[in-house]
Amino acid sequence: MSSVAIANIGSLVTNDETLGAGKIGERSGAGMVIEHGRVAWVGDSANLPEADSHVDVGGQAVIPGFVDSHAHLMFAGDRAAEFSARMEGKPYSAGGIKTTVAATRAATDDELTANLRRLVTEMHASGITTFETKSGYGLSVEDEVRSLRIAAAHTDETTFLGAHVVPAEFAERGQPGVDEYVSLVSGEMLTGAAAHSKWIDVFCDRGAFDVDQAREILTAGIAADLAPRIHANQLSNIGAIELAVELDCASADHCTHLSDRDIELLAGSNTVATLLPGAEFSTRSAYPDARRLIDAGATVAVATDCNPGSSYTTSMPFCIAVAVREMQMSPAEALWSATAGGAAALRRRDIGHLGLGAAADFVILNAPSHQHLAYRPGVNLIGQTWRNGKLIDPSGHSKQGHSHD
Ligand SMILES: [Zn+2]
Repeated sequence: MSSVAIANIGSLVTNDETLGAGKIGERSGAGMVIEHGRVAWVGDSANLPEADSHVDVGGQAVIPGFVDSHAHLMFAGDRAAEFSARMEGKPYSAGGIKTTVAATRAATDDELTANLRRLVTEMHASGITTFETKSGYGLSVEDEVRSLRIAAAHTDETTFLGAHVVPAEFAERGQPGVDEYVSLVSGEMLTGAAAHSKWIDVFCDRGAFDVDQAREILTAGIAADLAPRIHANQLSNIGAIELAVELDCASADHCTHLSDRDIELLAGSNTVATLLPGAEFSTRSAYPDARRLIDAGATVAVATDCNPGSSYTTSMPFCIAVAVREMQMSPAEALWSATAGGAAALRRRDIGHLGLGAAADFVILNAPSHQHLAYRPGVNLIGQTWRNGKLIDPSGHSKQGHSHD
């Protein structure tokens, strides 16, 4: 297998783990050598070793590929009309999910696959090299299992989210229907989903699933060898952070409404606080305060939450710009959270950084430094996206056909 030397990097962000969490390890005048899809050497460009091929980036910046640890890509249809109505003053509610559930159930496998591929192509163009995706718009055994089966052909990071909302055919029967749905998710649906899933997730919030239901579902998932993560405290605080820490969830996602005690719990745990600024942006809601979390010592990730209802973006640079402007993060903190933070939220050590031995997943920016991602909002600064040491061409395919894209 061939080696590639990347020369003349104006500013290289390594997120070198030895510097500690949150430190991006920026170095100027750098070079990097890739072998077998991994980072084999990092140093001064002037000392760059020989390699089979040579790429001169002309003084531009190179950063680790973004790790999008929270997305909902298994759906059909869109909800542009609902977005417009909301911007005209109608409040956001979980009810809109039903529209997407109906469209998803009606879609063919080919349609779901084509929609996923379109979004993944967009993600690559925005510099994302690893993405997680959840199910959650099928909400029947058959439709959840097929969503995860299709997703698993495109990413290792698949999440069973049967507990997204209670579907109408159960909800309309009141509490007995809800109880029956929780049993279905923890039983037959989980059994079918487990073969195609790494993670299990629950939307634990007002109007969705309460803490006891979430504990029952996540505990059943853990028993089926899935690892837990949770949607927590987006709309209100019903105690989901305590549950996240109790069950050692890899990540508690949203974290918009946090008590001081929640922040203490997160800071003292291995649970990452994943912030999703696209959701607050698209629902015109108050943003979480990343500053409080970071200052307390919590690990913070930033992800897109790409979904057709409340955050229909695949752009990590957009999320970084909003995180910096609205969530009190520095540009360096936002970049770390969108790369190494996302990797921590997926409990991955091989991605999110460019230390020796890391996956050679990186982005060549059309900018001299990473700061431009927030400093030049809305401008496409992604020059090239590389994954496992190979340039991903703009049509979305790895040049040498790596299967997990
Ligand atoms: Zn979500």
